[in-house]
Amino acid sequence: HDHPSLVKLLVVFTVTGGSLVASAESKSYDGMNVVNSHEADSKKKKVVVLGTGWAGTSFLKNLKNSAYDVQVLSPRNYFAFTPLLPSVTCGTVEARSVVEPVRRIIRKKHLDIHYCEAECFKIDAQNKKVYCRSAQDTNLKGEEEFAVDYDYLVIAVGARVNTFNTPGVEEHCHFLKEVEDAQKIRRTVMDCFERASIPTLSDEERKKALQFVIVGGGPTGVEFAAELHDFVNEDIVKLYPQVKDLVKITLLEAGGHILNMFDKRITAFAEKKFQRDGIELKTGSMVVKVSDTEISTKERSGEISSMPYGMVVWSTGIASRPLIMDFMKQIGQANRRVLATDEWLRVEGCENVYAMGDCATINQRKVMEDISAIFRKADKDNSGTLTVKEVQEVIDDICERYPQVELYLKNKQMNSIVDLLKESKGDVAKESIELDIEELKKALSEVDSQMKNLPATAQVAAQQGVYLADCFNRMEEAENNPEGPLRFRGEGRHKFRPFRYRHLGQFAPLGGEQTAAQLPGDWVSIGRSSQWLWYSVYASKQVSWRTRVLVVFDWSKRFVFGRDSSRI
Ligand code: FAD
Repeated sequence: HDHPSLVKLLVVFTVTGGSLVASAESKSYDGMNVVNSHEADSKKKKVVVLGTGWAGTSFLKNLKNSAYDVQVLSPRNYFAFTPLLPSVTCGTVEARSVVEPVRRIIRKKHLDIHYCEAECFKIDAQNKKVYCRSAQDTNLKGEEEFAVDYDYLVIAVGARVNTFNTPGVEEHCHFLKEVEDAQKIRRTVMDCFERASIPTLSDEERKKALQFVIVGGGPTGVEFAAELHDFVNEDIVKLYPQVKDLVKITLLEAGGHILNMFDKRITAFAEKKFQRDGIELKTGSMVVKVSDTEISTKERSGEISSMPYGMVVWSTGIASRPLIMDFMKQIGQANRRVLATDEWLRVEGCENVYAMGDCATINQRKVMEDISAIFRKADKDNSGTLTVKEVQEVIDDICERYPQVELYLKNKQMNSIVDLLKESKGDVAKESIELDIEELKKALSEVDSQMKNLPATAQVAAQQGVYLADCFNRMEEAENNPEGPLRFRGEGRHKFRPFRYRHLGQFAPLGGEQTAAQLPGDWVSIGRSSQWLWYSVYASKQVSWRTRVLVVFDWSKRFVFGRDSSRI
């Protein structure tokens, strides 16, 4: 029902030996009798991968087993290195330096992997099919439609920008999510400067053209503000001397602080640096409306104010794509925000469907249920209490299953239980102290919120891709020798260990060759040395030597010649 052509005739394609072949039959979508494309002679299991972003590409790069016939479907025929998109907006790095064609990636694999530039618009888990149309913004114009069937489905379609249904945002704001967005921003920034330089404009109009507003004080919004500020100060001042003083950059954040997922020291440093740099920071400011000339905000006091703008960049977080919302309705997850999987990345309530990256999350409710079950199991005499030693075992068990919890415990945010456990180390007498299970559960329920925060980042998506590829590589072997922890619910062992996320740290580039780095173990570093660390990490994380060379070349070019301000 989300597509007007559901009842129109579709050409049904089938996957044969990895290539898409149109079957002669044409069917209507409603109650459509889709051709069963399982070829009798094909022994390979068919894997369909939706998406060529961080999760999908990492899965493909790490797949080694030739026992699969893999069909990749994505409207983007390239992988984009999103952490460098803010650098693309001002020409620090070129757009083509941060993308790698999917076909180059899969060609190197020498496996049965095939790519088709198409967007999936419906998943039918019951009949193990996905319905697709050719990508809309290409010359195929989304007119070709077909169905592909699978034995295993890997969903890695990412997310869309969240506008919170704020009026005018879709129409008037720029987003910073895709490569095209970054290119559009780059052109619009130059437009604003050229417009402000037209001789007939009044000062007021010039000021308006050079008023840049960024909505959202997360890492992307902050990095873009910093990039823009550097661009103005390092390049624009020389090229547009007559208007340089009229530039104003404003960052709007609804919460109390920017970068609130970072250590407080980083937040404080960033806020002070922005103040010094003349970037206006308005916290507690929620955007309520954007018109073609003005952006209106509601302050904490309830007061509504408006300001004119030349360009607005909206960067306030993500939401599920319509495809995922529709799929969630089908499988009884309509009340959720994001697709729920278990710790093995299997979509709950579906067979042989996996989901990873920004479109999925490990189901909280189930995790808490599991934690409760661990407590129940440990309470052998049903007394409602556990000894410290037993609690220690429970916590070890939870950490084994849920690495995020371990992270949480290590982050020193855990309450008295940990202190108690630490105290009890080596003290046998204290081990007999009895603790109330309900109290313990209450304390651990904080874990819940921590689990929710398994961040929607490239780091998580890439690690999930590696994990899932590894599961697929060893599917047969693990069938025979299961290695996962003994399940407390149901019988036997799981085939694989659950997914473990390893947080490797995060960066916040703040401009002026200064970056804040928060590394594991709460290690914080801010300044030029972190900027060099940032350069080396991002160069090393490139998906290919080709993009690595291009990115390093772009950085060097910028040092020597400055950024290119042509509006092309
Ligand atoms: P994506 O990488 O978004 O990939 C989704 C894929 O699915 C795309 O190929 C898309 O074309 C495809 N697709 C979409 N719809 C369909 C469909 N209907 N059918 C088939 N395919 C479909 N994370 C970090 O860890 N560090 C950073 O520094 C960082 N910086 C960022 C900066 C920016 C500007 C942005 C936007 C994000 C940044 N992130 C960063 C977050 C990171 O990019 C995401 O978490 C990551 O891309 C998620 O990976 P994914 O594979 O789930 O989705």
